[in-house]
Amino acid sequence: MTEERKTELGLIIRAEIEKIISKLEDLKSFTEPVAPDNAIGRISRMDAINNKTIFDASQRNLKTRMVQLDQSLKRLNDDDFGICIQCRQSIPFERMKIRPEIRFCAKCFKNHP
Ligand SMILES: [Zn+2]
Repeated sequence: MTEERKTELGLIIRAEIEKIISKLEDLKSFTEPVAPDNAIGRISRMDAINNKTIFDASQRNLKTRMVQLDQSLKRLNDDDFGICIQCRQSIPFERMKIRPEIRFCAKCFKNHP
């Protein structure tokens, strides 16, 4: 992978991490502990618990992705960055731009989800 492409990906990764951080900030208010029954009605409490479950899950997903992005940032200057860890073929740059944290080419990703 060329230096220009690495630089471009570095910028994309950093921008993605920034986006995730602000999303996590937004989610924070939704994932606070749910107030007891007497504070809000029972139905809205159930809603709040359901929403909290959804928001907790997306918070977890975002955090996982952030860790992966951070790791790819650290791998950016490795010789095998952008090389599929399964078949050792280069991963298309367009694919790297969309998912810079990806470590498989499309074909291997299908076989090893
Ligand atoms: Zn592959």
